[in-house]
Amino acid sequence: MTLPLDRAAQDALAQDLASRLRPLALPERLALIDATVNGRLVFTTSFGLEDQALTHALRMAKSRAEIVTLDTGRLFPETYDTWAETEAAYGFRIRAYAPEREAEEHFVAESGINGFRHSVAARQACCGFRKVEPLGRALAGAAGWLTGLRAGQSANRAETSLAEADQARGLIKLNPIADWTREALAELIHQNYVPYNVLHDRGFPSIGCAPCTRAVKLGEPERAGRWWWEQASKQECGLHVAGAPGSEVKPGQKILGQKILGQEPRAFEPASSGSSSTSSNPELVA
Ligand code: SF4
Repeated sequence: MTLPLDRAAQDALAQDLASRLRPLALPERLALIDATVNGRLVFTTSFGLEDQALTHALRMAKSRAEIVTLDTGRLFPETYDTWAETEAAYGFRIRAYAPEREAEEHFVAESGINGFRHSVAARQACCGFRKVEPLGRALAGAAGWLTGLRAGQSANRAETSLAEADQARGLIKLNPIADWTREALAELIHQNYVPYNVLHDRGFPSIGCAPCTRAVKLGEPERAGRWWWEQASKQECGLHVAGAPGSEVKPGQKILGQKILGQEPRAFEPASSGSSSTSSNPELVA
């Protein structure tokens, strides 16, 4: 699949792929994406729960997708640990795209090291050179962009589809876990010994840059801890543009639980194995 020039044709193509992906379990979704997208396929991970589950699934499916990350330089130490643990567990290198040095130096000189707190515009400028510009380089020449976006993450992401045409970048954006629940993700992580960010167990359902992420309170939406000093409608970094109620952190909810490390990752188990495997979990299919 390569995107035609006509906008309506692009949307029709994406909608057709989304309808073909919808009834499939995750491994089959990834196989269909591999076979359908004609050209470079890139998955951008930020090492959150969604992205860790997708990294696991891509490695198990032997997907040809390149797994890359945007190293903003302001990430939590725990995120860098998760990055290293993921490379060790799956035996591959994750390519990092860093901010342009001149842009970073200019912003810090003009606005201060935490100048992004001064205004929404300053914050968007920081996200611009630390995230959006590097993303452009990461996706240069790509035909498909894989993400770990989920509709349940926030109101801004409620309309996330399994496949959508990204006309600005001239590619198809693929969100193969768009319809998953947070509980289903946690189950996949536990059952397959997938390394995950320990901050998830400390009240951080969504993890971005350290100075721009706080733990959430009970009852708050999953992404309430991102740029919490801004209005909710502006709480996106510009990588994903997107309203409906998001999922909430409920009283007594354990976000993930105990971290399991140092074990070999397992492939998805067949439904006949007797275990509650990912692919046989009814929550994981549409
Ligand atoms: S999340 Fe914060 S530190 Fe990170 S790029 Fe955006 S404004 Fe800058």
